[in-house]
Amino acid sequence: MRRTDPVTGQWFDIEPGTAHQVTDHAVHLLAPNASAWTYEGTNTWLIGAPGGNACAVVDPGDEAPEHLAAIIDTARRRGWQIAAILVSHGHPDHFGGARQLAELTGAPIYSAIVDERVVLHLPTRPIGPAWQLDLGGVTITALRTPGHSDDSLTFQVPGDDVLLTGDTILGGRSSAVFGPLADFLDSLTLIRAAADSGSAVILPGHGTPVGDPVATIDRLTEVRLARVAQIAQLVDAGVTSIGAITDAIYPHLPAQRRPAAEASVQSHLAYLVTTRDRSDSGGVPA
Ligand SMILES: [Zn+2]
Repeated sequence: MRRTDPVTGQWFDIEPGTAHQVTDHAVHLLAPNASAWTYEGTNTWLIGAPGGNACAVVDPGDEAPEHLAAIIDTARRRGWQIAAILVSHGHPDHFGGARQLAELTGAPIYSAIVDERVVLHLPTRPIGPAWQLDLGGVTITALRTPGHSDDSLTFQVPGDDVLLTGDTILGGRSSAVFGPLADFLDSLTLIRAAADSGSAVILPGHGTPVGDPVATIDRLTEVRLARVAQIAQLVDAGVTSIGAITDAIYPHLPAQRRPAAEASVQSHLAYLVTTRDRSDSGGVPA
């Protein structure tokens, strides 16, 4: 598959196994897990300084042995030791290969995952508010950005003006909101503030890099609020069940995407109810 890199404007191949240097400190590898849920596959990012001796792997993707071998090989070719494995959120297309990669490299895993079903099998260390990772020549920090999931993080590489958004912001698509929409909108605001330097680049969990984060975030916010307004109209017209609203909004929905669509409608409806309650009681409570 060939795509235009919005950062460099050049064509590049995105095929599993082909490493692509996207920014000064970020190298891309595509996991071989394309599906209806993961689009062309999960993006794995290696973050390290040119000439440095350590890197972090963000979202090792699934546990395909050839992908883990490609990650290790890509790091070795750059003279990097894999010092940490970072997971953006607790969905298997992002953490699936983490445990195996940790066993192969000895690197610790960091995430904000608390779901017991996951942490039982994933030896992850917590990421608190003051967490940062110094790789010698490049530092990574983390923002809590819930919405797609409660445990979603955005990793920041301040020296490179890079934001790794996991599935909170995707390249060229709208992400699914499984958590509260209010959380998601707050997270977009937080990422927008972090990206407001003008030269920031978003490296997403799926899809191509986003070279105009502020405009993209504004558009994503508008899309969500337009969806809330659309649901408000349906509710006012007497269409109030999740199923009926989903049918009205997504008339040609493939069956396998229905659970995600219904979860999204649920998030938007809850947001509508909360914001209407607030305006009924005379404004936003303190
Ligand atoms: Zn994903």
